[in-house]
Amino acid sequence: MKVFPAQVWRNKESLYSLIAGKCNKCGNLFFPYREICNKCGSTSVSKVKLSGRGTLISYTVSYQTRPGFEKTSPEYVGLIRLDEGIEIVAPLTDITGEIKDNSRVEAVIRRLKADSSNGLIEYGIKFRLVEDEHR
Ligand SMILES: [Zn+2]
Repeated sequence: MKVFPAQVWRNKESLYSLIAGKCNKCGNLFFPYREICNKCGSTSVSKVKLSGRGTLISYTVSYQTRPGFEKTSPEYVGLIRLDEGIEIVAPLTDITGEIKDNSRVEAVIRRLKADSSNGLIEYGIKFRLVEDEHR
């Protein structure tokens, strides 16, 4: 799939920040942002920016290589509970050692892949471990 600059620009908000939806009717918080509450069906939904910090609940390692992702193999994918209470599945990055249970993580912008045909680089949100976060 090719990504054109205009398209990247249009999706900028959702690509580069963690925007969740908060239902004004029932208070339900969900990610990613949608215009309709997945709990009560209300269309009165506000955008909420998430802190990008959370706790790693579990993770899996994928040794499968997809075209364009050779350099990032193996891939770590984590189940993360954000501090806002939302659970999301997202790729992990900068993994050097062992991953402990309930590690603290934070969102970072990382290069996902380089599109060799037009030189554009795709960025997205990944999570890295926070070693010594002061709580
Ligand atoms: Zn609702």
